[in-house]
Amino acid sequence: MSGLRTTSSYFRGSKVKAWVLKEASGQCECCGSDAPFITAEGEPFLEVHHLRRLADNGSVTITNAVALCPNCHREFHYGENKKVLVAKMYESVGRLRRE
Ligand SMILES: [Zn+2]
Ligand SMILES: [Zn+2]
Repeated sequence: MSGLRTTSSYFRGSKVKAWVLKEASGQCECCGSDAPFITAEGEPFLEVHHLRRLADNGSVTITNAVALCPNCHREFHYGENKKVLVAKMYESVGRLRRE
């Protein structure tokens, strides 16, 4: 039944994404920059990142997700200071819960 589980977490994930993007209202929650462009749907383009990776059993909730500009998003994945960035997010974004 893993197919079913995948489907429901997909829908849950898209709800969380929508909420986080709305909360960010077009500004990166890490650096505060405006989204780099407006999408064809008319929404500011930001990417949702899970602070604890889903692969590491991170939860699909608004307490584990942030909206980032593409530059910050890359840095969270590849930057030498990614742990510092994560710690900064836990401090600056009140809804987040460390997992
Ligand atoms: Zn940013
Ligand atoms: Zn990410």
